[in-house]
Amino acid sequence: MNHNAEEPDDEAQCMDVTPLYDPRTLIMLATLLIGVMGMVLLLMERASTLGIPGVRDWAIGSMLAALAGVLIILRGVAPEWLSFTVQNTAAMLAYTFYWVGSAKHFAQQPRLHAWVVLFALAWIGQTYFTHVVDSLRGRYLSLTGYVFAASLMHAAVFVRQILRNRASHRRRSLGLYFTAFWIGFSCLVFGARWTHALLLPQHGQGMLEVSWLQALYLGTFTFGLVIVNIGFLLLVSERIRSNFEQLAMTDTLTGVRSRRAVVDAASDLFKRSRRSGEPFSVLSLDLDHFKAINDQHGHQIGDHVLQAFCRRMEDTLRQSDVFGRQGGEEFILLLPATTMAQASELAERLLLAAVTSEPGLPGVTVSIGLTDWRRDDTSIDDLFNRADRALYAAKAAGRNNAQYC
Ligand code: GH3
Ligand code: MG
Ligand code: MG
Repeated sequence: MNHNAEEPDDEAQCMDVTPLYDPRTLIMLATLLIGVMGMVLLLMERASTLGIPGVRDWAIGSMLAALAGVLIILRGVAPEWLSFTVQNTAAMLAYTFYWVGSAKHFAQQPRLHAWVVLFALAWIGQTYFTHVVDSLRGRYLSLTGYVFAASLMHAAVFVRQILRNRASHRRRSLGLYFTAFWIGFSCLVFGARWTHALLLPQHGQGMLEVSWLQALYLGTFTFGLVIVNIGFLLLVSERIRSNFEQLAMTDTLTGVRSRRAVVDAASDLFKRSRRSGEPFSVLSLDLDHFKAINDQHGHQIGDHVLQAFCRRMEDTLRQSDVFGRQGGEEFILLLPATTMAQASELAERLLLAAVTSEPGLPGVTVSIGLTDWRRDDTSIDDLFNRADRALYAAKAAGRNNAQYC
């Protein structure tokens, strides 16, 4: 059986009508782009030392889509098992890997049981309608039906992620909306194509047929995937950026916030209090005689003491308090919606928590300087300077105590 029996189009030849487009050239171009983008995705993942979930699956999806593209071009030249069965399988797996990749990227669990049933049905369908009964309609229904269902599952991953981001008031992501839009659009086209195959008789040469309707379908299959790959690249670059932001906001030794993260949070609190008049307090903390701990026990034990001290502080604090490392053995603590009196009480508890030594580690004490926001403060630096003055006073007063300025 020959699926590409091309009857010479007498009318077109007589009137010298240029065809709308050449399907093979379109597929070739898109195949090249998708293959290159798959490789770029892999390279980006390798370049990002932190690792980005899902990228490898997206890249495998693109390689499979590129393989499917090459095999479609070879229809009529390559054997049928290769240009139909292997080609369709590669296309179906490409959509699967895209979906699984997105689920992994957004830390969602892909429902693989439903997928196995769907894939098996579609695969048997497309093989049966190619090799046993030559039915274009049957092939459309099984293949497009599968691609439609896989795209719907893929779209559901994005809808879930958009809802999750909205609930947590996270920054809007261009990559998320861009990719979601294209996957949603593909669902509409594949759904329409499947319904068309279900309701109306199908003629022609399938993917290589030249018509307006087929152009929309082919375009969504090929260039639609190029656009979805651009979306994946956007998502990857956004994830790389947020990973680095996260790094800059976290102190690598102790895992608490970095100085930059605390200063950002302090500026926000300062602006909020200026608008609302809500109180907040700032505490400056410095471990006492820490140099002696390093000298006696070594720098490594000194590091463990810093880590253990941070854990004890965080255990004593509320979720909304902002604790970070200023540098060395100095720390800053911001207490939102907290008056000076409440902050002093907490400082006493922090002094107690600091001296609670852990097995195998030398004990430490801490000195604390406190201050609170006042209406005539011109910037957050006014509070930091006062907290530092109070800290010096605590050191001068013999250490292991809290002073107020
Ligand atoms: P004071 O009570 O006056 O604060 O005395 P101090 O010894 O704590 O203060 P000083 O500023 O003289 O010394 C701070 C020490 O903290 C010196 C430095 O080696 C040590 N230090 C700073 N950063 C780290 C770190 O990341 N790990 C370790 N182990 N030690 C650190
Ligand atoms: Mg110190
Ligand atoms: Mg110090």
